[in-house]
Parts: sequence; C-alpha cells; structure tokens
Amino acid sequence: MAVKRIGVLTSGGDASGMNAALRAIVRTGLDRGLEVYGIYEGYRGLIDGGDKIRPLGWSDVGGIIQRGGTIIGSARSEEFRAREGRLKAARNMLACGIDGLVVIGGDGSLTGADTFRREWSDLLATLVADGAITPEAARNHPALTVVGLVGSIDNDAAGTDMTIGADTALHRITEAIDAISSTASSHRRTFIVEVMGRHCGYLALMGAIATGADAVFIPEHPPESDDWEGALASQLKAGHDAGRRDSIVVLAEGATDRQGGPITTERLKAALTRGLGEEVRATVLGHMQRGGSPSAFDRNLGTTMGYAAIEALLSGAADTQSLVMGIRGNRVVHIPLDECVAASRTINELLTARDYEGAMRLRGASLNDAQRTMTTLSRALPHPPQPGKRRIRLAVLHAGAPAPGMNTAVRAAVRLGIDDGHVVLGVRRGFIGLAGGDVFEMDWMSVNGWAPMGGAELGTSRDVPEGRDLYAIARTIEQHAIEGLLVIGGWEAYEGAHRLFEERKNYPAFEIPIVCLPATIDNNLPGTELSIGADTALNSIVSVVDKIKQSAVAEQRCYVVEVMGRRCGYLALMSGLATGAERVYTHEEGVTLKSLEADLDVLVKGFTQGKRLGLLIRNEEANTVYDTRFMCALFEEEGGGLFDVRQSILGHLQQGGDPSPFDRIQATRLARLCLRFLEDQIAQGTAPASFIGMVSGKVEFSPFEDYTRMIDAEHRRPNAQWWLGLRSVNEALARPSPRVPRQTA
Ligand code: ATP
Repeated sequence: MAVKRIGVLTSGGDASGMNAALRAIVRTGLDRGLEVYGIYEGYRGLIDGGDKIRPLGWSDVGGIIQRGGTIIGSARSEEFRAREGRLKAARNMLACGIDGLVVIGGDGSLTGADTFRREWSDLLATLVADGAITPEAARNHPALTVVGLVGSIDNDAAGTDMTIGADTALHRITEAIDAISSTASSHRRTFIVEVMGRHCGYLALMGAIATGADAVFIPEHPPESDDWEGALASQLKAGHDAGRRDSIVVLAEGATDRQGGPITTERLKAALTRGLGEEVRATVLGHMQRGGSPSAFDRNLGTTMGYAAIEALLSGAADTQSLVMGIRGNRVVHIPLDECVAASRTINELLTARDYEGAMRLRGASLNDAQRTMTTLSRALPHPPQPGKRRIRLAVLHAGAPAPGMNTAVRAAVRLGIDDGHVVLGVRRGFIGLAGGDVFEMDWMSVNGWAPMGGAELGTSRDVPEGRDLYAIARTIEQHAIEGLLVIGGWEAYEGAHRLFEERKNYPAFEIPIVCLPATIDNNLPGTELSIGADTALNSIVSVVDKIKQSAVAEQRCYVVEVMGRRCGYLALMSGLATGAERVYTHEEGVTLKSLEADLDVLVKGFTQGKRLGLLIRNEEANTVYDTRFMCALFEEEGGGLFDVRQSILGHLQQGGDPSPFDRIQATRLARLCLRFLEDQIAQGTAPASFIGMVSGKVEFSPFEDYTRMIDAEHRRPNAQWWLGLRSVNEALARPSPRVPRQTA
C-alpha cells in the first residue's frame, strides 16, 4: 500500500484519551515516514478545507497526553451525511494528497468514514467529470484507506473490551458518587445519581458496582416488576433498617421500564419521595463525565490504538475494508468496521423493540454477570440459607503489602458467600493471624461501605508461614472447621499458599481447596496479566508525574522519577507510556553505564536544542548499583550546567488511595469467581490449590503444581510478562528518531 499522507480527525462527542491517540498516530506516522495532517473540527473541517487541514509535526503533539478532550477539535456535521458534503471533503483531501484517514469517534463517525471509503472512486469520478480535479489526480489516489478508533465514553462498541474515554468517565462517576455517598451518609439521605448512557448501561452498572450503590437502572435491563417503584422503596427502607446510612440509586439516562417508558430522574425522584416519605436528592452528572485529565488506562489505550492504527494502515491490513482498532484481553485486535458498527446498531434496534434479553445477550457475558452480582451485593439483607443446603465454612485473609481493592474483594466474597447460605470467616493479619486463631465470622453489614475503601480492613502481613506457624495454622483450620481458603494478596500470599500446598503431606488440615486472588500494586504475579491495585497505583503515579511536569516548565530541568515494583518494571513502563516519559528503566531490561551515557548524550543534545523538560522513569530496583541518586548525580555532573536534575522517589503514596474503578470492578469479579471455585470444589470433594488470573481476556485458575515453573523466584516476578511488548511503543513515541524531520509543520 502506497499511502504517504494521512489525515487524522476526531469526531462526535469528545472523549478523554483522544489526545493520547492523536499523539501516537502523529508520532508513529512520522516515525514510519508518513506525512500526517490534522483535520480540525471533525468532518466539518474536512468539508471546509483550507487551514482546517494542516500538517502536524512531532512537537505539535507534545505535552497533550494529559489533557482531556481533543486539541484538534470535534464537531458534528450534517453536511457530511450527504454525498454533496463528502464530495467537498474528497476534493479537499486530494488537494493535500491525502488518501489515508484515521478517524477517532463513535458509531456515527465510523459509519461516515466507511461510507466515504466505499464511495471514494465514485466521488473522484464526479470530481473529474466536473473538472474539479484532473484525471491524473484521481489515478494517483485510487483508493481511500480508513482506520477507526472508537472514542466513546459509553463503552458501547462491539468487539473491543473498552473504548477510549470510558475508563476516565468511570473515574469521574466514581469520584462523584464517592463524594455524594459521604454527604448522603452524614445526613442519612437518599440520592439519585444520573449518569450518561442513552443505549448502554456500562457506565451506570460499573459505577454502581464500584461505589457499592444500592440500586441501578440501565437501558438493557429494565426492572422486572411492574411495581418497581414500590419494590425499590421497600428495598431502600430495608437497607436503612439494616443499618445503612445512605442510599444511592444510579440511573442511566436511557433507562426505561419494561413497557419502554423512560425512567427519568424526575420520575424516580417522585416515586421515591412518595415511597420513602422523605425528600430525595438528585444529581445529574452531565458533561463532567466527559471531561478532565484522562486516566492512565485511557492514555495507554489511546496510545496503543493509535500506534496500531498506523501499523494497520502501512501493513495493508486495511486495504480492502475499513478496520477498527480494538482491545481484547490487553491485546490489539482488528475488527472490520462494518461488523463493529452493525453489532452496536443491532443492540439499539433490540432496545427499541423492547427485546431486553436479546440486547443483554449481545452485550456479552461480563455485563450480564455484573448485573447479577450487583443485584446480590445491593440486597438489604441476604437470602436466608436454604433448608437442606449444605453451609460451607470459608475463610478469607490477606497477605503481602496492602493493595487498593483488597477491601472491595472481601466485601464481594463475604456478601456473595453469605447470600449463597455459607459462613464466611474473616482472618485478621494474614497467615500470622491464621496461626494465632484470629478468626471471626463476618456478617452482611460488617462489610458495608467497603467497596470504595483503600487499605485492608482485615489487616495484612508479609510473613510467610514457617515451621511452627504451619502447625498452628493447621490447628486453626481444624478448630474453625474451615473448608476453603481465599487468600487475597501479593507475592507473600502466593508464597504462603504454596507453602500450605507443599506441606499437605505433613498437615492433612491443608487438604482443602485454596485459591489466591492477585492483589498487589507491583503486578508481579504468575497466572495473571493484571493484579488488583496496579491500576490504582498507576493512576497515582501518573497524577503526581503530571504535577512534576507542570512544576518544571519554567526551567531546563530533568526529572528522574522512581516508582515501585521491586524487580518488576510494569509500573515504570506503563506510567512512562502514560506520561510520555522519554526513557523508562526496568530491571528486566537492565541499566548499564553505556546506556546511561547514551541517554546523557540525548539529554545534552535535546537541552542544547531548546528542550525544557526531561522525564525519566525508573523502576526502584532497575539496578541497585546505578540507583536513582547515582543517575541524578551522573546526569547533573556530566550535563555541564545545561540543565538541573532532580530526583523524585514516589514511595508509599503508590500503595495507598481509594481503589480505581477498574480495581474495584475486577476485585468484585474475581472474588465472585473464586467463591464459585471454592464452592464447586467443596461440592465435588476435591481440594485443589490454585491462583486465579486474567490471561488473554479469559479468567483462568492455575494449579499450584505449576507455580514454581511459572515464576522467576530470584527476581520475584512471573516468567511471562505480556506488557514487555509495549516497550517498542514507548520507544517510538518518546523521542523522535533521526528519520523524523525536526519540524514538519
Ligand atoms: P457519539 O458516540 O458521541 O454520539 P458519534 O460518532 O456516534 O459519537 P454522531 O453524531 O452519530 O456521533 O456522528 C458524528 C458525525 O459523523 C456526524 O455529525 C456526521 O458528520 C458523521 N456521520 C454520522 N453518521 C453518518 C453517516 N451515516 N454517514 C455519513 N456521516 C455520518
């Protein structure tokens, strides 16, 4: 494919992360020898032409990764819906010699791009016939290549796990609901919070799960009962009676009843005011959901999708059909644009036809599971145990350093376990507490309010049980008749569980199903691509680094930021990607004097040419000899006064904070699956020891038999680390390669 010049536009509603995508498209394009034109104000700009279509250089997209919205503007254009408009657009494209188009937008924007591609030769024929372009110009640009990125806060696209902007919107929603919950709880009030989502309940449902809300209404799942207003009021009253101080009802703007009648905020408010006999407050979150600085996930999603878009364009993959870049299980996927759009359309049609089951089915299993989980977790009180059903005794404990999301996981395990009729025992202070018999029965309300809470209410310990501890643990298991163990934590949790597994021959008490749920900010565990807490830590790092970058703009300064992770470079690389760091140091890659000298050369050259800020991120144990202080001293001394060097060691702020929405949602989901695993094993009379994880988008349980084979014990990390593949993306975007002209604009 001979595309040489491409245009990029953002269209439809703006979404946080679009700038990261734009940056990646421009820089990867330049790196690969393309000329990249920014088309300002979406399709409207394409039709207007002139200075609305301008070349973009490397530095034009510098310093934008942390900004919400889109710097090239977005718009809706009625004119582009008509052939006449598209004719003008084609003419303007040809005037610039552009025959590749990357569109970042929602359903409508992508459909428009596909129509444009299909019509291209026809449009050109008309332009030739009208004398608007020469036959030669038409011959030189026989086809239009289109690649799409879904920028939509609703997360409503089929074929991709996430759309650009949805995670940030969820951040805004959870921040708002957390804040509203605290005031609602102080005054014992009921609040309705309306969130965006005309056809898609993703934001409302995930926002409700993440904040521990009491009820949710989404377009795909109208309330079952005709008297839903009465049922909701009774549920909230029962919650108050059980001890809840606040009630939060999350409402998607497109929610309806089973007859298709809109459930508006006003309708809900009137119904609840009547039913509860008290004043009910309502907050419509509105456009604040779209705005603000993008989350770490959206920055990295935009970046990887943008990078992939250029690769798809150049590889010829998009020559015969328009493609949408998507992500499934942390891997980039190509989705035929028409399939992606058609699936979303079908869901909207099913909703119009009131076929809610059909719409829910098409949304996929995880939304369905989330809906069911939400229904259970938000109950005022659990179902009473079923007569005749065996009540299992399960224990839950933490081990390792605290990770945001641990409390969320415990809450889900306790409530889902109790609702299934089981007894859930909490263990304080990890394996040491288990050895000491620090075990108590948890009840439904004991975890009230835990969904958004950082830290670890049960307490945790880094101690891995040895010698006499093992004997004491065996006694506790027997005394409390524990039939299954859920261990939520990091490296020490896995080491401890592995120890119990290995000691089964000596301690028959350990012959019970054991499952570990990965929870550590380091993301260094086997059998999973992501652990609970890592996303929160990443967001904490990113927001601090944003501030550091701002503080440095006045001087010529280079920052060396040290992040946690021990010998696992996940946090370093992903935060580097999300903040646009020009160099990331990880233990996996290693640090040598030679590489430091090369980096110094690049810094000196950059600052000599007018650069004002250098940002280097290093993993705390990237190299213990060439540590952060050494690096700073080296750069400062050898920089010859050209720039200052400052170190910033972020420390424990990375372990704290309220869990991010993603961590809360994953903690809830994994806890549910662990609970099911323990139940099933106990029912079958089997006693495996396993660890749960997400691998290529699927949940897997890996047996402890494979544990030692899957880890690099010396460096405390798994042997397989999927994210290492993203190093090339960071390298391509951080610094211009010698191929890139210094300024093409
Ligand atoms: P959002 O999810 O924010 O609604 P969207 O991309 O779906 O984003 P739309 O308003 O549907 O938003 O579309 C944005 C623009 O894309 C329209 O203003 C129009 O210019 C173009 N567009 C949409 N649908 C079509 C179509 N069928 N044919 C041609 N152009 C279209």
